[in-house]
Amino acid sequence: MHRSSTRSSTRRSTQRSFRLIVTGLIATIALAVATVGSAQSKLNVVTATEDLAAIAREVGGDRITVEPIARGYQDPHFVEAKPSFILKLQKADLLVVVGRELEIGWLPPLIQQSRNAKIQPGGPAYLDASLHARILDVPQGTITRALGDVHPLGNPHYWLDPDNGKLIAKDIADKLGELRPADRAYFQMRLDDFQKRLTEAEKRWTASMAPFKGAKVVTYHQSFSNFADHFGIVVAGYVEPRPGIPPSPQHTLDLENQMKQQNIKIVLVEPYFDAKTPNAIGRDTGAQVLVMPPSVGGVKGTEDYFKLFDYDIAQLVDALKKAGGGTR
Ligand SMILES: [Zn+2]
Repeated sequence: MHRSSTRSSTRRSTQRSFRLIVTGLIATIALAVATVGSAQSKLNVVTATEDLAAIAREVGGDRITVEPIARGYQDPHFVEAKPSFILKLQKADLLVVVGRELEIGWLPPLIQQSRNAKIQPGGPAYLDASLHARILDVPQGTITRALGDVHPLGNPHYWLDPDNGKLIAKDIADKLGELRPADRAYFQMRLDDFQKRLTEAEKRWTASMAPFKGAKVVTYHQSFSNFADHFGIVVAGYVEPRPGIPPSPQHTLDLENQMKQQNIKIVLVEPYFDAKTPNAIGRDTGAQVLVMPPSVGGVKGTEDYFKLFDYDIAQLVDALKKAGGGTR
């Protein structure tokens, strides 16, 4: 009995010290996790659009979380403000905007109401992605919004050019490195990799578009200036009389006449516009009407920056072939 009880008490004491060691270990691990967690908590990046979110994700990797405000299937000029947007902005460590007044109709009041001092325009965590990008359609002379023009500072749809994609990515990587110096090398490495993959993809895209150099298309809004310029096609007219102004019967008639004269057989329509006028133009001129997303998330199959170009180019090449274009 005695021996047995001693054995049992020895066992108990062994168990107790084992438990102590385990408890100590857990505490040590928990402390280590907490330390790593606070040193490497993810930067909370909010972007105005899904395109910027896609690029931020490429360079930020697992060191950031990204939340876009406008969705790719929405007209980025006119986004309905929701209270949840203010909450997102309140918690943002960085805000990336398209700029060139694309978001002027909805974003400034949200930023202001977020009361997040860092992300106010000019603040240390406010990044205008247009600053180094190549901007087209910059108006000459006096800038006026009197006619309702939504592009007074040049074309804000500049992300649809892979060269601009690289510049936007660089600005985001630099800003992330500024906010989180310990991860600067990581962001730089991700940027290099993104730019390399983009250069590779560009070769493929350029090759598929090459047979259609100079082909003319009509688009609903001025969303594809950079895209057309980069891939060698020509946007010869718009369904809108001016950017942001709805179609008018007279303008539509003029456009149809121009399309007949110049044998233009393709109309590109952004997913968020009413297809009524484009479809009528298609019927009157025999042109194909394509729903072409200018943004990541615009339609199914455009979930990242690469897939957006894959999708748009595949669709366009198909239509150009049907239209009898191409030299090969
Ligand atoms: Zn626009």
